[in-house]
Amino acid sequence: MIHFSTHLASLAGLIFLAPLLIWSVWLTLKEGISQLKRLHSIPCSRCAFFTGDYRLKCTVHPITALSEEAIGCRDYESRSEPICPYSKQWKRLNK
Ligand code: SF4
Repeated sequence: MIHFSTHLASLAGLIFLAPLLIWSVWLTLKEGISQLKRLHSIPCSRCAFFTGDYRLKCTVHPITALSEEAIGCRDYESRSEPICPYSKQWKRLNK
């Protein structure tokens, strides 16, 4: 009888906690995707003033380059090809 009531309590707890767990995972995923979208909107890697050199990331705004503060930067100037950290151009610039 004791084992049955223990299992019943565990099952009730599981039924109560499962939706909370799913809701928590959903909120975390939603927040993560939102943050990822925000980080992808940083324009620096596509900007003509971005150097690709970690010592001086940008010749106009060296402090805010590659940060969330660069989103909506008024000095953004489009370049034909973005600098990718894994590209040969990046490696050549950072020798
Ligand atoms: S000018 Fe603005 S957008 Fe361009 S690299 Fe500098 S901070 Fe980023």
